[in-house]
Amino acid sequence: MEGSIVGTVDGVRAAYRAKAPVSFTCARCLDEWTGDLQVEGSQHFSRVPDEDGYAIVAGTVDLAGPATDELSLAIPPAPVCSPDCKGLCPVCGTDLNKDPCDGHWDESDSPFAALRELFDS
Ligand SMILES: [Zn+2]
Ligand SMILES: [Zn+2]
Repeated sequence: MEGSIVGTVDGVRAAYRAKAPVSFTCARCLDEWTGDLQVEGSQHFSRVPDEDGYAIVAGTVDLAGPATDELSLAIPPAPVCSPDCKGLCPVCGTDLNKDPCDGHWDESDSPFAALRELFDS
């Protein structure tokens, strides 16, 4: 994490840049991977704690809290492993990225359904 601090009238303004490894689960195919999430932000600190409780304590400021907040906001709610991820087959659950499932037609609409009835009897 990098940061820089500028003094203000009533405290300091800290600008920071933080990077953290985050594990993602693809919202479509449930594949898991770890990626780096990078955020930039700034936080104002004064002797009086702000609404998040951040303040100058014993002459120092703690950037880990604001950076963690920023990182958690930056995590996408529904990440996908790639923009063209095909997801899972809704019928059999096969990962369509690895195995192009041939699909599952509705058996009653299938031209073979009638044949199958013949074979079954
Ligand atoms: Zn995926
Ligand atoms: Zn399938």
